[in-house]
Parts: sequence; C-alpha cells; structure tokens
Amino acid sequence: MSRPLLEFNEKGIFCSAGNFYIDPWRPVKYAVITHAHSDHAKWGHQKYLAHKLSHEVLKYRLGNIDLEIIDYNEPIHINGVTISLHPAGHIIGSAQIRVEYKGEVWVVSGDYKVEDDGISTPFEPVKCHSFISECTFGMPVYKWRPQQEIFDGINNWWRLNVEEGKTTVIVGYSLGKAQRILQGLDLSIGNVYTHGVIENTNEALRRDGVKLNPTQRATFESNKDEMRKGLIICPPSSVGTPWMRKFYPYSFGYCSGWMALRGAKRRRAADRGFVLSDHADWGGLVQSIKATGCETVYLTHGYTASFSRYLCDIGYDAHEAHTLYGGDEISELDENPVKLVNEYGEIIEPVDDAEKNSADKEIIILEKPSKIGLTDSEKAIALKKAKRMGGAL
Ligand SMILES: [Zn+2]
Ligand SMILES: [Zn+2]
Repeated sequence: MSRPLLEFNEKGIFCSAGNFYIDPWRPVKYAVITHAHSDHAKWGHQKYLAHKLSHEVLKYRLGNIDLEIIDYNEPIHINGVTISLHPAGHIIGSAQIRVEYKGEVWVVSGDYKVEDDGISTPFEPVKCHSFISECTFGMPVYKWRPQQEIFDGINNWWRLNVEEGKTTVIVGYSLGKAQRILQGLDLSIGNVYTHGVIENTNEALRRDGVKLNPTQRATFESNKDEMRKGLIICPPSSVGTPWMRKFYPYSFGYCSGWMALRGAKRRRAADRGFVLSDHADWGGLVQSIKATGCETVYLTHGYTASFSRYLCDIGYDAHEAHTLYGGDEISELDENPVKLVNEYGEIIEPVDDAEKNSADKEIIILEKPSKIGLTDSEKAIALKKAKRMGGAL
C-alpha cells in the first residue's frame, strides 16, 4: 500500500511527497500554517508559508521568521504537490490547506467556523477525498445563537453600565475574539479601549491593511471619567490582575464558546457571560464535513472520540488523530500562567478546565493517547490535555 498523502507523525501533519508539514508542533524545515494561534503556529521552523493577512501577526508573535505569504485560491507547487489556501472563517487570515497530488485531494481545516463574522473571509467548503478537521465543539449540546443576538446583548449591557456609572470590561482572546467583539460594538455608546496585548495585535492587523474600528490603548494615563463611559477589551490573562482592578468600579463580561456550559459564569466570577465562539458548533461541523464530499475524516482536537464514533455511524471512515492542538480558547492562558484572582482576592479556576470537567465527564470516557506519532513527553502533555477536556483527547 502506498503512503497516505498526509500522515501524522511526531512533529505534525506531514506530506512525504512534498516534504513539508502543516501546523507542526516541533521544528521542521518547511511549515505551512493554517492560522496564527499559538497551538498552530509554533516558533522554530526554518521556513513558513501562510496567508497574507497573517503576515504581521505572525511576525509580532514569532519574531523575525522566514515567511512566505500567499492569498486564498492561489496554488503553489512544492515537489510536484499542489498547495492552496482556502478561507476557514475562524479568524482574520485563517486558512484551510488543500493538498493535491496525482489526482488525490486532502484538506486540513485548521480551526474553522461557519457563520460569517464580518471580518474573517467566510468559510468555504473545499471538495476533497480526505478531510482533517477540528471538532472543538463537536457535541450536540453546542448550538450557537446568531451572533447579532450576542452583540445586541453586549451593547445593551454596555449601555446599562454607562447609566450605572460603571466601566465595561469585556474579556476575549487577543487574536480573533477581541477583533470580533470590536467590530460588533455600537460605537455611539462610547470609546473602545484595549489592553496592550490586544492593541499590539490590532496594530499588526492594521499594518496588513485590515480595517478595524478605532481603539485606544488603556494606560495609567487614560482619563478615568472617560473610561467609565467606555468599554475595555482585555485578554483572559488580565482577569483579576492589578491592571484590571484599577478600572474599578466595573462590570466584567466574558466572551467564549465555553460560556454555553452551565457553571461557566460562576467559575469565572464574571458578571456576564456571552456565548461567542470562533469555532463551528455541532451542526456547523457536520454540515461542513458533508459539504466536502469526503469519504475519510481525521479529527485533530476537541471531542474526537465521540465525534468520530458519530461520523462512523453515519457512514464515514472517521478516525481520531493525536495532535498537540489544544484549542485557542485555552492557549492564551497556557502562555500566560498567571494566577487568576478576582477583585475579592479569590482564586479563579483557570478558564475551561472547570467547564470541561463539569459538563463532559459523564459522557466521554478517558482514553489513553495512542502511540501514533507522539514522544513520551508529548503523550504526557496529551494525556493531561485529555483530562482537562474531560477525556476528549
Ligand atoms: Zn486551534
Ligand atoms: Zn485557532
């Protein structure tokens, strides 16, 4: 039997015919990157290929890397293998990677969402024989409300806070969620301020020509009275820090797909939780997989065990693939392992551990990572992650 076009090894998703990797987690010579989130775009590769709107963000996050950029639907050829990028709708510049060789087509989704968020190029299903998909929210319990409802909720809450003389603080991931929140705000209510990490990310995107609503960096010099009418967007790592406390009195809202689960709001000590995710929900995943017309599916991260069983039941040749993709919805915390303390000095549990454990453990049985492609230390990390995901490695 000939070698599959793409395979999972100890470094990432490997194409032996083209001699390149997709989203490798260990240093390689040539890395094709789906998007700039830290679990997909790692430091240390000799050469990178990514979408042009990831250019400045990748340089901001990874330093002076050797990066080639292309647009969507602009095929390039490496050792006889054709590679092209296609919109994934996950964040600005996120891409699915299409790989074609001798008439066989594979697509790697990276992370994706189906709803058009108005700032990321909308997701386009790509026909293929084999589809390597994420399934972060691959459980029927996840069904997103239309985003306009969520933004209406955020804007109404902001107006209420202005009336009550409280600053509005909203937490979302610095790349993706922060910009999506920014573009959904009603700017007639007040100014939008940003934490430095988010402002740096916004500046990188603006350098790439992305048009974002105006923002001001929140600093110690910022006018307190003005800020009370404004809204501050900050990353999860800033929750409960002295930086955040200086805006007191404030109302604090949290934006994440994980807010869909019971207990999430309480555990985060947030006043408000908004269910807004940059990943496809259950229906979006199933619909997208069907739209590819594929026969074979490999699931890289999320509820891979139960979702692959479901796909097999409906006639797909579905497999779990063991990777180190952790889901960007937790990776920022992993990068900034600060103790989360709320304004009363109580320690808040790290984001996502709590929710996943509370809601999912009855449903999913913990499975040990298989030997495929992982070293011992990676297996340990994967097993840890599996426990955090309530067993869904
Ligand atoms: Zn991811
Ligand atoms: Zn991502």
